[in-house]
Amino acid sequence: MIEAVTKGFKETFGYEPAGVWSAPGRANLIGEHTDYNEGFVLPFGIDKRTYVALSPRSDSICRVSSDIDGNTYQTDLSSKPVGLDWALYPLGVAWVMREWSKGGFDAYFTSNVPVGSGLSSSAAIECSIAVALNEIWSAGRTKQQLALIGQRAENDVVGAPTGMMDQTASMLAEADSAVFLDCQSLEAKPVSLNLEAHDLVVAVIDTRVAHRHSDGGYRVRRESCERGADILGVSSLRGLSVADLPRAEAELSEVDFRRVRHVITENQRVLDTLEALKNSDLERLGELLLASHASMAKDFEISIDELDLAVEVAMQSGAVGSRMTGGGFGGAAIAVINKNLLGSLEANCKAAFDKAGYLEPKIFPVVPSAGARRDR
Ligand code: ADP
Ligand code: MG
Repeated sequence: MIEAVTKGFKETFGYEPAGVWSAPGRANLIGEHTDYNEGFVLPFGIDKRTYVALSPRSDSICRVSSDIDGNTYQTDLSSKPVGLDWALYPLGVAWVMREWSKGGFDAYFTSNVPVGSGLSSSAAIECSIAVALNEIWSAGRTKQQLALIGQRAENDVVGAPTGMMDQTASMLAEADSAVFLDCQSLEAKPVSLNLEAHDLVVAVIDTRVAHRHSDGGYRVRRESCERGADILGVSSLRGLSVADLPRAEAELSEVDFRRVRHVITENQRVLDTLEALKNSDLERLGELLLASHASMAKDFEISIDELDLAVEVAMQSGAVGSRMTGGGFGGAAIAVINKNLLGSLEANCKAAFDKAGYLEPKIFPVVPSAGARRDR
């Protein structure tokens, strides 16, 4: 990948890049739609990354190109980028970081993170360029600050109202670990997953049904959560616990109540998962993953038939637990499963999807991997 992105840069811009940086996609073990409610999440970086080869320029022009298409997009740092397709992600990061800029840059991206699969190719591209610019502009931002910069680019420039989980995972991830993040205090700590010791892997079942967060579903869920917090008199749903559910049911509309119940119970499930991991209690871990999926399917209503089938087949194939991962309305499910059962999981999923008339899913293991870094 490092060779490929260097070659792409040279072919596009005609000279050698100053360096190569990369950032991983992420899978979320548990804690979905809790980030923008100031709750808890437990994602990990995956062994699929977006690489950027980059060189500073002495003028204020920024050019970005990617093997995703043949196009090179160009802006000037003096104006906010608009309408530039995928280039809004990296140019958005540059825009948010402009106060530290020492001039423009040329950048070329190569990635093996599946796009639109809920594995956060968007955070991977944002975080790869954020670490690169932080270095070449001597911006001195911490990884935590760079994660928030990536989120701001996605919210304010791309226009997707997403929380901070994806960028935090991509920036702060560590090998063999998940990142436990408290989205209220912004405290983050690595949590050892220790899957290897139990011969377990996390398998991704990518339904290949693409989601888009800038579409309506995500925004409408956020609005339900904000309304719920407002009516119940708290600044965010983090201010509520399972004990508040009867009051929530009495005061909220039926739909808003179910949205709020998902968030409240999901926060508790993240904390319970930490406990289960600490005790190597795999049965409990499995129960929590399944309960999370059920809550997303029934209360939050962000699953789709393909994801429900993926979870069902994973469990029939002997998984410890399984759930959809990411924002929903498409994308991927994860299954924690014995590594010797990967082959049958793949065969069973493909057969079941074929029978149901769905697209052929992609099944692959992901290894918890390090966060954003310089590679060359
Ligand atoms: P996800 O983050 O789940 O993959 P998103 O819809 O949030 O899905 O982000 C996907 C978008 O991010 C793509 O449609 C594209 O605009 C941009 N993107 C991601 N990776 C790349 C890349 N390597 N090159 C160019 N654009 C990319
Ligand atoms: Mg995304």
